[in-house]
Amino acid sequence: MEEFSRKKLVEECETMFLKRILIRFSKVYDDPELRRKISVALDKGFPKNAKGDLHIHTNWSDGTYPLEFYVRKAEELGYKYLAITDHSLVNKGTVQMDAQKFLKQLKYIEKVQKSTPVKIIKGVEMDINENGELDYSAEIMEKADFILGAVHFDYGKGEEKALELLKILLENEYVKVIAHPLNKVGKDLFGSHLDEIVEIAKRNKKAFEISLVPDRMRESEFLVEKLRDKSVKLSLGTDSHSVKQMELMSVASLWLDRLNANLIANFYDDPLAFLKS
Ligand SMILES: [Zn+2]
Ligand SMILES: [Zn+2]
Repeated sequence: MEEFSRKKLVEECETMFLKRILIRFSKVYDDPELRRKISVALDKGFPKNAKGDLHIHTNWSDGTYPLEFYVRKAEELGYKYLAITDHSLVNKGTVQMDAQKFLKQLKYIEKVQKSTPVKIIKGVEMDINENGELDYSAEIMEKADFILGAVHFDYGKGEEKALELLKILLENEYVKVIAHPLNKVGKDLFGSHLDEIVEIAKRNKKAFEISLVPDRMRESEFLVEKLRDKSVKLSLGTDSHSVKQMELMSVASLWLDRLNANLIANFYDDPLAFLKS
């Protein structure tokens, strides 16, 4: 970490972090029910069998901090691993990590890996394009340890389109987990296609993420209720865009008594082996 002008960087990051958190969390501050739930979760504390976080953004995409900061935080939390999952978002905006940049990140991670006992899982949060193609070629995805598939866009065509893209992600051989599955699809459509979606996920050995981001809490609550008896694999993700946000793993405490711990990837020493099985 010596290569950074640490003090300046931390100050800058804190300013960015505060702005981001204010925007994202304003929904929570305005909603007493969500506020109460978060405080219950935080009181319950950190899930003792959480061995790592599987959804993290660094400043290689739109995360606030350099990669090493999240690694140090993972050490502090006593994690065995963390997955770096910066956005692909090729040609969809200013924040992106195209295949070339991703290949550079892989090399960079190998360097950082030498300085920590925490396993750094080389992941990416992969977008799907309107035509159903993923942002990276199979050859590039082959080099990643972990692909988190995400529908961030419905391309102006609404929830049915988002559902179609979700199903394509579930069939893709490289995708392991579906990030925030209700994004763009919505509760109603997801709920009415539940059996079909779960069947596709199980057939293709995919997991659904239970997002621990407070402003996705209602969606996560819905997923927990719908999936609790479906024996489908799950993954806990803080979707951290800042280091402090990694502490939101505690939010999972709200739901753990309703979920089968054997189906949660983060409770395994080797989550990738579990997700493959
Ligand atoms: Zn996302
Ligand atoms: Zn994300």
